[in-house]
Amino acid sequence: MKIIRLEAKAIRVPLIEEFRTSLGGSIQHEGVIVKIYTDEGIVGIGEAAPSARITGETIETILGVISRLKNIMLGSNPLEYRRIIESIDDAVIGNPSAKAALDIAIFDVVAKKYGVPLYRLLGGSDNSFETSVTIGIMPQEKAIYKAQKYVEQGIRILKIKIGTNPTRDVDLLKKIRQIIGDDVRIRIDANQGYTVKQAIRVLKAIENLDIEFCEQPVHWRDLDGMREVRRNTEIPIMADESVHGPRDAIEIIKMDAADMINIKIMKAGGILNSLKIADICDSYGMKCQIGCMSETQISIAAGVSVAIAARSIEFSDLDGYILLKENIASGIKFDGVRNILPDKPGLGVEIKEDILRKYVVASVRFEE
Ligand SMILES: [Mg+2]
Repeated sequence: MKIIRLEAKAIRVPLIEEFRTSLGGSIQHEGVIVKIYTDEGIVGIGEAAPSARITGETIETILGVISRLKNIMLGSNPLEYRRIIESIDDAVIGNPSAKAALDIAIFDVVAKKYGVPLYRLLGGSDNSFETSVTIGIMPQEKAIYKAQKYVEQGIRILKIKIGTNPTRDVDLLKKIRQIIGDDVRIRIDANQGYTVKQAIRVLKAIENLDIEFCEQPVHWRDLDGMREVRRNTEIPIMADESVHGPRDAIEIIKMDAADMINIKIMKAGGILNSLKIADICDSYGMKCQIGCMSETQISIAAGVSVAIAARSIEFSDLDGYILLKENIASGIKFDGVRNILPDKPGLGVEIKEDILRKYVVASVRFEE
């Protein structure tokens, strides 16, 4: 089997409402949908979701990098996926979400060739994984209303974005815990928004609210600061923006800078590197979460598959598709607690071509 054609389509899809974190807000999803065609008729799909502030990528850079990597892809046998993905990794520094798009499409082909769902190919046994649902930065009344609504709808794990105003954040979390009761799990994410002192002050003030963990309280480069925060609170600290690839995970572990790590396929550069991070953490007894950017069901399905397969991944935050005005792909079911994958070969996700077409803003196509 060999790859004979590679297509990449950049898309912009409006969101139902603005999504805001302490890093800023957005009103549209931007991404690149990739398809690889093989001489056996198997087509693999993948996706890149850029985040200029986290990975330094845009849809324009992704199309450029995919164009550069086409010679590694075309003519290659997807069944030799480790060699191809590691060659891609070596060929260009950084650009992890562009690499992730190709990696996901390759894994989709391999699983389809073997006739098994991706989570099976990766060695997983179940077809579902629980996820949190995120509440962005918004006026306090609205955040409380949303939390209540989600809980009424049956959602059992909330992830609440904080990091813009310590006093507001403490007040908001106290109110939400009071209103939703003790049964709903709460996780928080400051997206680097605090100074070390602010983070310690906020976390100390909410230690009695049964918070499962706090993601990335301080700047991604400030590992000493994150360790300082960790030493001064009982709430577990999860490194997110500080960890892109496997080497970052090793550094965090060596420095004792965090209790847990949030893996994202778009930061790691794909499924293979995400599994490498998860296995490094596993060998140190460290628990992980798998999270996402604003993504469609294509790469969310890849994330759920990795979560199912990797022992160290205990948590997931894979709700990146619920704010999209229209879903350009279908396959995953969300029952309020778990993302459920279909029992189909590969990712199990299908592109809705008629909907995708409406949102394409640029595309490239290469043939052998
Ligand atoms: Mg985060």
